Amino acid sequence: MEVSVDARTRLAALIGDPVEHSLSPLIHNTAFRAAGLNHVYLALRVDPSAVETAVHGLRALHFLGANVTAPHKQTVIPALDELTPQAAAVGAVNAIARRGDRLVGDNTDVTGFLAPLLEVADDLRGTRMLVIGAGGAARAVAYALLTAFQPEHLTLAARTPTRAEGLASDLSKFDEHGALGILPTDELIGAMKSATLVVNATPLGTHPNVESTPLPDVRGISPDHIIYDLVYNPDETRLLRDAAARGARVIGGLDMLIAQAAAAFEQWTGTKMPMDAVRRVFRERDR
Ligand code: NAP
Repeated sequence: MEVSVDARTRLAALIGDPVEHSLSPLIHNTAFRAAGLNHVYLALRVDPSAVETAVHGLRALHFLGANVTAPHKQTVIPALDELTPQAAAVGAVNAIARRGDRLVGDNTDVTGFLAPLLEVADDLRGTRMLVIGAGGAARAVAYALLTAFQPEHLTLAARTPTRAEGLASDLSKFDEHGALGILPTDELIGAMKSATLVVNATPLGTHPNVESTPLPDVRGISPDHIIYDLVYNPDETRLLRDAAARGARVIGGLDMLIAQAAAAFEQWTGTKMPMDAVRRVFRERDR
């Protein structure tokens, strides 16, 4: 549906630095058009010293809401009025929505990560899980897994174990059953054997390094595994190809990217994101 920009157009935006690589404008502008909403989504580069001013600007200009990306996901917090429980738990904000006059910071990576997983797996409660990486995405993933599934084991495999220790310590209040454990990445194979779910939360496999993978020894992958790669560029990573060839169920990062956007879209507009239209745009782009 064609929607023209006019005096009624409302704005949403991504703030970060850099922002030129972002797929969020494509996702949200496609969704706004498909839903017939007179809204426009922009990607705005904001210097680290100007984050608070930018948030005042969102408020003053009556933006519908915003996304936040690196390096502002933590530093934006003091400028907001409120955090959702998941943003507070993860300690990072990737979406801002308005509630009346208040700006609420959310972390939609948590719900965005879970949505495709719940479509693929009926019950992961009490299983063993392995997350590779210990950065911002791993933090959202580990919180999501702990609170949604109460895993028996949730092992964090990290190149820098001190980073994983910090993550485990910060999330310990959500770890009622003592599930969290830490492993250096060179000991992955052992933990793979008993894990039902394996998540790549490192950038390994991202364009242009498309031949890199967190699991070079594919013998550890079996048909009993669900392999979830957060990398979305390319859509089908080497890890996902290897996993599918070994008979595992696979989930790609693009599904999470669209689902985290959908969670923000719903908060901004009060309507569900037209997912088919967004998925179609990505399919056509990849042709
Ligand atoms: P981050 O905060 O920079 O953390 C990256 C993590 O990966 C760190 O633990 C880092 O280890 C580790 N790592 C980096 N290079 C590695 C290598 N060569 N070998 C082993 N470990 C390595 O990044 P992030 O924000 O967590 O993002 C991680 C990935 O998830 C990115 O590819 C991002 O695009 C993707 N992501 C996708 C979505 C989605 O919606 N699909 C959402 C968020 C993030 P060190 O601490 O040792 O550096």
